[in-house]
Amino acid sequence: MKSFSGEKIRNVVLLGHQGAGKTTLAEGLLFLSGTTNRMGSVLDGNTVCDFEPEEIKKTISVSLSIAPFEWKGHKINLMDAPGYADFIGETQAALRVADAAVLVVSAVDGLQVQHEVMWRMARNAGIPRLVFVNKLDRERADFHAVLGSLKTLGKGFAPVDLPLGEEHDFKGIVDVLTEKAYSYVDGKATESDMPPDLASEAANLHTQIVESVAENDDDLIVKYLEGEELTAGEVSEGLHSGVCERNVFPVLVGSASKLVGLDRLADLMVEMGPSPVEVGTSVGTKPGSEEPEERPTSPDAPLSAFVFKTVSDPYVGRVSLFKVLSGVMTPDSTVHNFSTGVDERIAHVFVPRGKDHESVSQITAGDIGAVAKLSDTHSGDTLADKAHPIVYEPLEPVDRVIAKAIAPRTKGDEDKLMTALSKIQEEDPALLVERNPETHQTLLWGTGDTHLDVALERLSRKHGVEVEELELRIPYRETITSKGKGTGRHVKQSGGHGQYAICHLEVEPLPQGGGFEYEDKIFGGAIPNQFIPSVAKGVEKTMAEGAAAGYPVVDVKVTLMDGKYHPVDSSDMAFQVAGSLGFREAMKDAGVALLEPIMDLEVLVPDSHLGDIMGDLNSKRGRIQGTEAVAGGRQLVKAQAPMAEVTRYAIDLRSMTGGQGTFRSTFSHYEQVPAHLAEKIIAEAKSN
Ligand code: GDP
Repeated sequence: MKSFSGEKIRNVVLLGHQGAGKTTLAEGLLFLSGTTNRMGSVLDGNTVCDFEPEEIKKTISVSLSIAPFEWKGHKINLMDAPGYADFIGETQAALRVADAAVLVVSAVDGLQVQHEVMWRMARNAGIPRLVFVNKLDRERADFHAVLGSLKTLGKGFAPVDLPLGEEHDFKGIVDVLTEKAYSYVDGKATESDMPPDLASEAANLHTQIVESVAENDDDLIVKYLEGEELTAGEVSEGLHSGVCERNVFPVLVGSASKLVGLDRLADLMVEMGPSPVEVGTSVGTKPGSEEPEERPTSPDAPLSAFVFKTVSDPYVGRVSLFKVLSGVMTPDSTVHNFSTGVDERIAHVFVPRGKDHESVSQITAGDIGAVAKLSDTHSGDTLADKAHPIVYEPLEPVDRVIAKAIAPRTKGDEDKLMTALSKIQEEDPALLVERNPETHQTLLWGTGDTHLDVALERLSRKHGVEVEELELRIPYRETITSKGKGTGRHVKQSGGHGQYAICHLEVEPLPQGGGFEYEDKIFGGAIPNQFIPSVAKGVEKTMAEGAAAGYPVVDVKVTLMDGKYHPVDSSDMAFQVAGSLGFREAMKDAGVALLEPIMDLEVLVPDSHLGDIMGDLNSKRGRIQGTEAVAGGRQLVKAQAPMAEVTRYAIDLRSMTGGQGTFRSTFSHYEQVPAHLAEKIIAEAKSN
């Protein structure tokens, strides 16, 4: 692929609910532009954008892919972002480098949950947006219903196309601006007569667009009010600035699989832009400070680039995808990573297309490229000219709301597992691996069940590590609520070197957070001084291992009251064992209670689901602390609930709200488990 100047580049992300047709649309555009010579299909698993086996198997996109193509002298870097809520981190990454977004909506299914989420994300990213109403050829397609529902996203939607027929009769489109009709055969449009029944609607829409364009421009509004016609050039220019100022959102129609309206969409991407040069400057900071530092989108400025994604390729290894924000990235060069502080050698630079990479001589400001085998560069890092320091804001972290406990299927695979986990985490920063020191489980955290399933499949396929899923252990803690006594007796004197130690211990509760206290009340040398710390050591070991159910013991004071020793057979080891035995007995005497982690929850749901959410939280032993109405007809519910009840809350909430609810949870504190539940947990732990 040849090199394009910044003015001729368009970085466009496709957004939309899963199944709206984004991958098919990307495939259609690649085919129409002559980039590929056949049209792949999602069902056949041979599209450019969905190439990971997990994507082919599930027929959903799970990671962001890049599909550049040439259109009328421009290079469009199309980004296909997954529509599934679990992979929102990929969409966030794409939005960091996109200069415009196309919301793909199915004319059959209309606006869906993820459309709203993604529209909001794109709005927050501050980029111009278009809407492509897809699948007009399908049964039950209803363009006007979609158009009506777009109002729930806000104002400014301008239908520049109307469908020519619908469902089986869908033939093409009517261009509202020129009031001409186009019928399509194999992606090629021929001008045809506009059916009389569409004429008045097209004329109406035309007037609306002209009015909104005029309203945006002081000179045009004067002309318009004086009754003069705006020229086609003026309307198009006005539309362009309305789009760039994010007041106007053109709506197009078509069918991705039948290649209808795709040429118009590509035309509009080119005409409406904006190019990265038009977007202007990128703002970062001077490394190590908050002082702003800017770079113009120009090949003449010092190099700076933002790494927005990392993939691991079976042939070339780790590949970093970046957008050059200023300057030019060339092969055979050295750049500095201002996020990690290392110099990185750039051997080759590539243009990525799906799973393929094409070697190029440079990537210029505004364009997207890839480089392989960087030593210490991760998603979210800034690469730049060492003489001109700058760092850009790293990627926003995503909320990880669910964890799976995993273990290697075969013994001895532990090392391999940790290496493989760190690799998949590198590819997908929305994953987090945690080794829980209390439950001794390896946890994989993510944004949802599907996210984790895909990660585990990838672990096996790409890295050859098979894992089994374990039941998630809750990090309970053991404690006491009353005093107790116990005797530790470790006496073995038959044959050989004997062992002799006896100690009498008392335990009493400390306030929460009190940890462990040890007091020595030995009188008259019943246990010699050198063995007094041995008893404490034995107690502490048992505290770490648990006295009843294998969970660490906390908030206990232990007093050594009395004991006995033998001048020859007593030893440090013997008193440790006696300490441990005595402590267990004293805990049993006091009665072991369990503490459980309590989580702070913040649940965001549509008003209509508030009742269900509160009822469900109550059934999960939750305590509602308050509700608050927030923008967009939603309620923020603050609550506390035991961790044991909400480990799968991500799944429950999704099914209760049809995917419209989100939540965050953070650890708050420990609280005593109700006695009847504690008994069950202890009994289960013992039987395991
Ligand atoms: P994505 O999840 O948004 O990427 O959607 P896909 O591209 O995977 O499409 C989902 C399904 O809809 C696939 O089976 C496509 O073949 C089908 N599809 C996509 N666009 C169209 C279209 O315009 N017309 C029809 N009839 N089917 C389509």
